[in-house]
Amino acid sequence: MTFDAEAKMQFLYALRSKGVTDARVLTAMERVDRAMFVKGIFADRAYEDMPLPIASGQTISQPSVVGIMTQALNVTSRDKVLEVGTGSGYQAAILSHLARRVYTIDRYRRLVTDAKAIFERLDLTNVIPFVGDGSFGLPDQAPFDRILVTAAAEDPPGPLLAQLRVGGIMVLPVGQSDAVQSLIRVTRTEDGFDYDELRPVRFVPLVEGLGD
Ligand code: SAM
Repeated sequence: MTFDAEAKMQFLYALRSKGVTDARVLTAMERVDRAMFVKGIFADRAYEDMPLPIASGQTISQPSVVGIMTQALNVTSRDKVLEVGTGSGYQAAILSHLARRVYTIDRYRRLVTDAKAIFERLDLTNVIPFVGDGSFGLPDQAPFDRILVTAAAEDPPGPLLAQLRVGGIMVLPVGQSDAVQSLIRVTRTEDGFDYDELRPVRFVPLVEGLGD
């Protein structure tokens, strides 16, 4: 299946029906062909609203969840964004159409290498991939206007809170990995942090250290 006009129409319809209504986010998702980020037999299911397996035992998230998280992040074209959990690179590619610059980090070198090749093929020159433990963020590139975490921690990691600019927004799943988690939005104010709970989600856990 190709991301032709009909596939796009159905894909966008499914996103809208799940609450993704922000026009900029929908346009960015229309520009990024999810099939490029999914390999082998799963590529045929790329336009279905479900998570799919990728290398290193990880997953590419469900498109509607990608849309809801991107929408909650409220990215502007001036923003410097950090994504923790590159995975396939799909979410970072969408962010690249919305932000000034996107730093993305994953603990698996293989995933970062594969994603980097796709960013190059798509000429997404404002995405900068890193291998590392993203729970420590990227201190040399901080502060960030927006931070998106695509793996679940029990609580928002302290280094990520510290690397969020005042007025900045972080969206992340929190909770135990084997239970339903909550997607939350953290806004940094002059005095501290405001927390909003958005919806239940289920993500792979944020794991310490580098992958094999
Ligand atoms: N955003 C991805 C995409 O668009 O395909 C999906 C991410 S997948 C649900 C979660 C990712 O988080 C996995 O690739 C996993 O290796 C990564 N991860 C887990 N713990 C991490 C950590 N401490 N630092 C960096 N990446 C981490």
